[in-house]
Amino acid sequence: MIDVIIAGAGPTGVFLASELQLQGVEALVLDKEDEPTKVVRGLGLHARSIEILDQRGIADEFLELGTQYPLAGFFAGIIKPQPQGLDTTHPYVLGIPQTTTERLLTQHALELGVEIRRGTEVTGVSQDEDNVEVMLDGGTRLRSQYLVGCDGGRSTVRRQLGVGFPGEPSGRDHLMGEMELTADPAEVAAVVAEVRETHKDFGAGPPVDGVYRVLVPAAEVAEDRTAPPALEELKAQLVRLAGTDFGAHSARWLSRFGDATRLADTYRTARVFLAGDAAHVHPPFGGQGLNLGIQDAFNLGWKLAAQVNGWAPPGLLDSYEAERRPVAAQVLDNTRSRPSASVTTWAGTAA
Ligand SMILES: Cc1cc2nc3c(=O)[nH]c(=O)nc-3n(C[C@H](O)[C@H](O)[C@H](O)COP(=O)(O)OP(=O)(O)OC[C@H]3O[C@@H](n4cnc5c(N)ncnc54)[C@H](O)[C@@H]3O)c2cc1C
Repeated sequence: MIDVIIAGAGPTGVFLASELQLQGVEALVLDKEDEPTKVVRGLGLHARSIEILDQRGIADEFLELGTQYPLAGFFAGIIKPQPQGLDTTHPYVLGIPQTTTERLLTQHALELGVEIRRGTEVTGVSQDEDNVEVMLDGGTRLRSQYLVGCDGGRSTVRRQLGVGFPGEPSGRDHLMGEMELTADPAEVAAVVAEVRETHKDFGAGPPVDGVYRVLVPAAEVAEDRTAPPALEELKAQLVRLAGTDFGAHSARWLSRFGDATRLADTYRTARVFLAGDAAHVHPPFGGQGLNLGIQDAFNLGWKLAAQVNGWAPPGLLDSYEAERRPVAAQVLDNTRSRPSASVTTWAGTAA
């Protein structure tokens, strides 16, 4: 029987698998997608996540590929003064695309011997006193001692458990993508600066190799946010807000995201746990979701390993929810406090 199955090979799932493997616990990671996503959601890592990577001896690889920015922050759209005298060796925000973070975390997991099985969707979950049965698309069944749902905001594991996910649905969508613009860069910068005086959630970031990261509010909340928008939809919104679509073309990827805010009623149902976006979702402004997921995994990993290895004292596993759920609740409250036109941060563009 497998020690721990992890549903989802996003940042939370692969980092949790590494933490288990480090303690000699076999972790099998399943992901429904054949390939890692090309969509660059997150752009930043915060001090605590970098400290964790440092503790595992892998921070240098991230630092080499990222850019250090001064610590900032905001509450309800109001910029806060820089925190002084933080007790950390990493008092900065590390700008690094989420795709790079995921690649490095996956590399770390594979080096430790984690098995990641892609193109494998978890469709069902059942459990008894002794183990968990995981149903896969195609009918295969796997048994493990424990299962962790790291399968994102629409978590199948959470739904299969019947765990409530109360909160607010999305009230505002945004369209985002990487693309080329034919407009002169100086003109793009000037128009973006003007629009951002009234719409902080609008941007076309400084081009990297001629490719811009474009962010624009959507006209309406989509019924199905899993479907990427068409380039034409994004261009129409550019015209509506900026009076020009900048000649956008050759999109590398397009994505749509909302500002739903939800927290799982519980992080544990007997032998099954939830971590990362499967346990909490919130608007991305402030760039905290991926960081929360890494920190969930860091908290849960050694405790679950202790349980599997037979030395966990009573109550240790339950301390995961006791410690991590209040942190997510606080982040959710913080991201709820925002003006109607949100301040753009790591979520969108550095413009
Ligand atoms: C625009 C935007 C900007 C953001 N910026 C930041 C930022 O700067 N900093 C930050 O910290 N966070 C940011 N976030 C949030 C961050 O992207 C997420 O919080 C993070 O990806 C969550 O990681 P995860 O591993 O928990 O879930 P995910 O990354 O969603 O990974 C879940 C994985 O599970 C797989 N899966 C789903 N269902 C199944 C199934 N049934 N069976 C098997 N596999 C399954 C999926 O294919 C996926 O690979 C941003 C989000 C958005 C939308």
